[in-house]
Amino acid sequence: MDYQQPLTVLPEDEELFRQEVRKFARQRIAPHVREMDEKSHFREELLREMFDLGLMGIEIPEEHGGQGGTFFESVLAVEELSAVDPSAGVICDVQNTLVINALLRWATAAQKKQYLPRIARDTLCSYALSEAGSGSDAFALQTLAKSDASGWILNGRKLWITNAQEAGLFLLFATVDPEAGYKGITCFLVERGFPGFAVGRKEDKLGIRASSTCEVILDNCRVPAANMIGELGKGYKIAIETLNEGRIAIAGQMTGLARGALDAASAYAKQRKQFGKPISEFQAVQLELAGMATEVEAARLLTYNAARLRQTRRPFLKEAAMAKYYASTIAETVASRAVEIFGGVGFTKDYPAEKFYRDAKIGRIYEGTSNMQRITIAKQLLS
Ligand SMILES: Cc1cc2nc3c(=O)[nH]c(=O)nc-3n(C[C@H](O)[C@H](O)[C@H](O)COP(=O)(O)OP(=O)(O)OC[C@H]3O[C@@H](n4cnc5c(N)ncnc54)[C@H](O)[C@@H]3O)c2cc1C
Repeated sequence: MDYQQPLTVLPEDEELFRQEVRKFARQRIAPHVREMDEKSHFREELLREMFDLGLMGIEIPEEHGGQGGTFFESVLAVEELSAVDPSAGVICDVQNTLVINALLRWATAAQKKQYLPRIARDTLCSYALSEAGSGSDAFALQTLAKSDASGWILNGRKLWITNAQEAGLFLLFATVDPEAGYKGITCFLVERGFPGFAVGRKEDKLGIRASSTCEVILDNCRVPAANMIGELGKGYKIAIETLNEGRIAIAGQMTGLARGALDAASAYAKQRKQFGKPISEFQAVQLELAGMATEVEAARLLTYNAARLRQTRRPFLKEAAMAKYYASTIAETVASRAVEIFGGVGFTKDYPAEKFYRDAKIGRIYEGTSNMQRITIAKQLLS
């Protein structure tokens, strides 16, 4: 790959991949977006098609049934899906940039052989770190893991777990010793069918409603010894490092969302007539669209730069935090201005702008709030 070329001119293989995801999103997902939002449910056949297209195992090596693709392609997929439906974007994000990413890096060869083919084929995954009392302060988690002769016994409750309603596998963080602070945190791969595992209440949300967000309950949940991922007490490293990378794809989600809102607003402005001409001919509307387009472009550049840095194994922490912070900020304002360009109908569910506006809000909250991103950026600046 030629990394000397401009960030937005993609090599042929990446461009083909992008076009394929874009076509799928527009042809297959778009007709169902409103209904899925209203029903708070992602259609099973669309998830099946995402697996069949390889979108749910992008970086899984071909020998394990995946696409043998790249981290950058995962970010592209999340962006393209989110331009049509940010719920589809986050479903793909958690699967690829959090769970698969962690397993590729920390699972043993035996664990990869056992689980990656299932994940690539049809098993949706969740990433279970947060709890009621531990969000930004993730390492204050209380879920307890105790070992006995037959493996691990987990007790506790996880909150806000994306994909949990449909997922078959959970990358889950617990502490083996609450006194040890972050050094007690250990990572496990928990199957939905393990005894003592249950998915609890599903949240009724403002946005990304088609993506499920649920509580996960561990009541003496039995996990085989072989399902510990990485080393004992080193789960904090897995959590930090996957989230550092995953947030680049959330920047992709927010960039895609903002582009979706901009495209919808531009198309509407060309066909909506007032005072005898299309509203796109009024300079005030043009200036608004130009500002929105500039912000989308800047968000995309920050996102692609962070993704390329990560892909080429260069330091990317500050750039990833900047990308997520900026893209989620402009997604909200671009979507808000799109609602206004649509006028009254923008405020209704008959047009896509209001949903983009609702969906944008989550970008400043999950995978590290905007405050946490700015704290990361400041630490890097001042170190
Ligand atoms: C729809 C959705 C999906 C999610 N999916 C997942 C998932 O799949 N897996 C998972 O593990 N978690 C998930 N989460 C949890 C998410 O990551 C947390 O909600 C997020 O990290 C914030 O934590 P909190 O909600 O406890 O807020 P808090 O940490 O209580 O923060 C509340 C406010 O205080 C601010 N704040 C907190 N600490 C500081 C500080 N030190 N300095 C400055 N400001 C501070 C925050 O910025 C925020 O504005 C999801 C959440 C939602 C809403």
